[in-house]
Amino acid sequence: MKTENSESYVLHLPQQHVQPLVFDSPHSGMVLPADFAPLASVSQMKTGWDAFVDELWQPSTEQGAAVLAATVSRMYIDLNRAPDDIPHIMLEGAWPTALNPTAYSERGMGLLRQWALPGQAMYAKPLAVKDVQQRLARYYQPYHQRLKQLLDQRHQEFGAVWHVDCHSMKSKGNAMNIDAGTARADFVIGNRDGESASAGFTNVIVESLQAMGYQVSLNQPYKGGYLTQCYANPTQRRHSIQIEINRHLYMDESGFSKHLGFVELQRNLQLLTTNMLAYIEADLCSVF
Ligand SMILES: [Zn+2]
Repeated sequence: MKTENSESYVLHLPQQHVQPLVFDSPHSGMVLPADFAPLASVSQMKTGWDAFVDELWQPSTEQGAAVLAATVSRMYIDLNRAPDDIPHIMLEGAWPTALNPTAYSERGMGLLRQWALPGQAMYAKPLAVKDVQQRLARYYQPYHQRLKQLLDQRHQEFGAVWHVDCHSMKSKGNAMNIDAGTARADFVIGNRDGESASAGFTNVIVESLQAMGYQVSLNQPYKGGYLTQCYANPTQRRHSIQIEINRHLYMDESGFSKHLGFVELQRNLQLLTTNMLAYIEADLCSVF
């Protein structure tokens, strides 16, 4: 395995047998930059941390996949949002172009976090425009540029690419989530209601996990976020899928530490990667 380090990301690349399969983990970083002055405590902010997700998928590099992981906390800037998904109220001064706050911003979790948790504001005052622009330049853009470059390189080499955007979720949503209070499945697979990945690739993932005994939900409550939407174009053979793993499978959610289930889950994700690669190989062969 080769590792590429930057301020914005860590990229794990295979040494050999490169495959057109790229995993990215935008929320597993917990770096809190020096200019970040949150009202929320570190433990409050850790509830939004997709802890250890990069580590769960990292063994897939031995199988030829690439694994890109963000360094910075999503509480500072969320890489799985559009760069203009900012509510005006969070800024001091005018943004130079039009803003497009989405439903994420309405729930306080757009590009910039307005609420760390329900009732816990993230900041004491609005943020200076130039400070937000600096966050985009230092952390957001390098991550997206590297991911796009990886996907383009693989697509050029193989004629197709499969992207998996990796997350983990609380076992039960809070008041800021669209499924507040509901117990979640072991895995939620999102293909944006069929728009971001082929049915074949989706089915391999869903059926492999079900065969391992997991409870799997498709597009409910998560159908795939900005990264899945941004890099998908199935008609051009660019497939993108989101995988949300229930944290109860591998960690103590209140203590933010791994439990004994971590190793078994990591092994099962390697089996899942094997099945994805078998599908990819057959799909590549079917074209010729
Ligand atoms: Zn996430």
